[in-house]
Amino acid sequence: MKSSVTTIPLEKLLEQLPENYTLADREVVQRAYRVAEEAHREQKRHSGEPYINHCITVANILSDLKVPPEVVAAGLLHDTVEDTTITLADIRRDFGDTVKILVDGVTKLTHLPRVSRGDQHADNGNNGQETEDAIVVPALLGRKEDIVSETLRKTFLAMGDDVRVVLIKLADRLHNMRTLGHMPERKRMRIAQETLEIFAPLANRLGIWQIKWELEDLGFRYVNPEKYKEIAELFTEKRPEREAQLEFIKENLVSLLAKNNIKAEISGRPKHIFSIYKKMQKKDKPFDMVMDVRAVRLIVPDVPACYAALGVIHTTWRPIPGEFDDYIAAPKDNFYQSLHTAVIYEDKRPIEVQIRTHEMHINAEYGIAAHWRYKEGTKHADKNYEQRINSLRKMMEWRSDVSDAAEFVESMRTDVFQDRVYIFTPRGDAIDLPAGSTPIDFAYHVHTDIGHCCRGARVNGKLVPLYQELKTGDQVEILTAKRGAPSRDWLNPNLGLVRTQRARSKIKIWFKKQEDEQNLVQGRDTLERELQRLGLNEINFEKTARDLGFKTADEMFVDLGNGELPIGKVIKLFAQQEEVSDIFEVNPSVTPATSTNAIEVVGLKGMLSSMAKCCNPMPGDQVVGFITRGRGATIHRQDCPNILQTKDRERLLQVGWGHVERTYPVPIKIKAYDRQGLVSDISNLLSDESINIADVKVNVNRSIADLRLIIEVKDLAQLSRILTRIENLPNVMEAHRTNPG
Ligand code: MN
Repeated sequence: MKSSVTTIPLEKLLEQLPENYTLADREVVQRAYRVAEEAHREQKRHSGEPYINHCITVANILSDLKVPPEVVAAGLLHDTVEDTTITLADIRRDFGDTVKILVDGVTKLTHLPRVSRGDQHADNGNNGQETEDAIVVPALLGRKEDIVSETLRKTFLAMGDDVRVVLIKLADRLHNMRTLGHMPERKRMRIAQETLEIFAPLANRLGIWQIKWELEDLGFRYVNPEKYKEIAELFTEKRPEREAQLEFIKENLVSLLAKNNIKAEISGRPKHIFSIYKKMQKKDKPFDMVMDVRAVRLIVPDVPACYAALGVIHTTWRPIPGEFDDYIAAPKDNFYQSLHTAVIYEDKRPIEVQIRTHEMHINAEYGIAAHWRYKEGTKHADKNYEQRINSLRKMMEWRSDVSDAAEFVESMRTDVFQDRVYIFTPRGDAIDLPAGSTPIDFAYHVHTDIGHCCRGARVNGKLVPLYQELKTGDQVEILTAKRGAPSRDWLNPNLGLVRTQRARSKIKIWFKKQEDEQNLVQGRDTLERELQRLGLNEINFEKTARDLGFKTADEMFVDLGNGELPIGKVIKLFAQQEEVSDIFEVNPSVTPATSTNAIEVVGLKGMLSSMAKCCNPMPGDQVVGFITRGRGATIHRQDCPNILQTKDRERLLQVGWGHVERTYPVPIKIKAYDRQGLVSDISNLLSDESINIADVKVNVNRSIADLRLIIEVKDLAQLSRILTRIENLPNVMEAHRTNPG
């Protein structure tokens, strides 16, 4: 199936470069061609074509947009850093900073695992890697979907950063879509869908109709092949008839406008397959009804001529109500400007008419790239470009805070790529929202607090339900409660109360914060209670949290509260925290001096040490050494009253625990309503854990039993566990370690 296609020659590329390129410009492009050709020489596309043909076509698509030469060069080199041995440093050296920045930008969009590129390395020449391998059906593999989202998120953010990078990305996607038929079938659908959902809307956002329509038709062709074929066939079949009719209409219009002294270029308006399909769906009409609508476009010298032409047309034929739109006075948010209308023509059937100036036309076709079609230094074009860039930046502003990639992409899909409606505040300020927005969306858009407190809404003076869809021109007044909170219902998609991702995120954040606060309090309580029971205080929560991988203690408390973090894990950490070398005296009543191996005395290896009898330290306790006269060091708990009170601070030594597994005597106290078998239950439990009891004292006073035990445990984790188990025995009120001193 591999065809022996040859490399597209350099001449072909040079021919298509914008005519205003200087010799030096052309030279840059030529050099980029040579470098890319050399670098990709061994690589092939799935079609069997040399890989360089992809780069050349991308460069061609870009040069059709008349972008500056560095962008065309970057288009040629866009896959070199990722797929060949060429480095960014090479590119900077040979082509300068701009080209390097652009190639870097494109590479970064796809730098994660190779996803979302729709690229077509054939199996040979590229280590057998297939770039679309990571693209999968989202429902099947959540993680890969995350990676895809992250790539898309970066692409969107690049819109506000450097729109040229997005242009290269779009050209790349366009060629990959043109050659999608060569991709393995399982990948086609996913790539096509992504193109329809993301890349075509992206092109639309940038106003580049020339790329948008082709992406849409190619995407549609793979996503819904039957429907595509059906429409395409009918479309071709009816073409001669349609074109003949259009000729008549055009002649008719020319003479009509000439009679009224309006100079106009008239053309039939090309329609593409996907737009016909969308129209059929939206208006729920069969193909004939949609296709029968003939469409013409008038290009006139200036704005007054637009309205003059409209007036002539409306007075000659009957306008169809609801079909008139003035996008000159109110441009679409991708800056599209034109007058749209539809009238009933002489044959009693409708024609659609678009009227615009030449400049509006260029803007409509090339959008943000129109800028480069004007001679440099044209003030108006520059201003227009600035405005577009600013609006893209503004659009990305709050969104760059959304760190969850999937949520970010979803918000672009619902909030940015949708049609917009224009809503007025009671003061008359206009706010644009995605079509389908409700009063709650509006409220959140105005201010987060107004959203939280929203309880009702008046639209154009009348009370409406909160699920009511807002329409362009509506004036909305939000009725708020003094202290309000969002309702969980607002997040229920079936109720249709909230439409924008922006409002949705704000509501979610509110709930999460509430829960976090409750969890925080609960988590802190739990931990403090447990520490008290273990007789530990002076714990540095911030350090503990960091050791467990949290940024702050509060985060740790929240996770403790919501059960993400088991308390045992925290206790275990305390137990391990002290680096130790070993031993303790098993019998607290004797406590002879032991060898230095018992404990690691920092900086003083080999010194004798013994456990202090006053506080019975055990591994996990924060300890300190105290230099005694003639007996080496005594190890105390850091919170031992004797240590806290000592005036001889210079005799204190920093010490830590060793690793040898031994047991340590710990005094505990148990309080219970006395009952038969209580003591034997406790001792069974201890023997179950192989814990030795070194000493027991029982005191019963008015049916309250007070048990004092000295038990020998391995570490804090075991102590914690055993205290919990004792507390769970019938009649036991509390079990805890007794305080030092
Ligand atoms: Mn590519």
